[in-house]
Amino acid sequence: MLERTGVPTPEQIREVTPPEEIMKAKPVAIIECFQKIPCDPCHTACPTGAILEFEDINDLPKIDWSKCTGCALCVAKCPGLAVFVVDMTYSDREAIVKLPYEFLPVPSRGEEVECLNREGKVVSKGKVLQVFEPFKDGTKVISVVVPKEFAMEIRHIRVVRKDG
Ligand code: SF4
Ligand code: SF4
Repeated sequence: MLERTGVPTPEQIREVTPPEEIMKAKPVAIIECFQKIPCDPCHTACPTGAILEFEDINDLPKIDWSKCTGCALCVAKCPGLAVFVVDMTYSDREAIVKLPYEFLPVPSRGEEVECLNREGKVVSKGKVLQVFEPFKDGTKVISVVVPKEFAMEIRHIRVVRKDG
């Protein structure tokens, strides 16, 4: 499925989803990287050692969630745009999803955006909480507040402005 559509299977997503007790406790990175390629900037960008050292450069990344702070530097550094941070602790009904963004226009803080799932379908609206570009290389990390029930589905945003 992934090779044909670019969309991972529910089983693949389950394999990279942190245990519920971790998700309830703090923001954590979710690494949706399923293809073995020679690549490891997620590991080298991580300041806490949460993304473990690769034995072979083609390995899939492994994460120790206990060390993850949700800083999202790995989100900004992954060339495959395959890493996200989800913070289920934000409020009773809302979560934060931090996702990589390389499009124009760049949304502003407080702006309402459309939130898309892995298939590119709009599943909800969201509100931009923060835009940052830690490495000043064109890849921004957008923190968006979304309904909690969609936090594990939303993986992209679309800026919709009536004035174009
Ligand atoms: S969010 Fe920060 S601490 Fe967590 S894995 Fe990514 S770089 Fe490391
Ligand atoms: S940087 Fe991204 S594409 Fe490369 S190994 Fe890490 S998660 Fe996979």
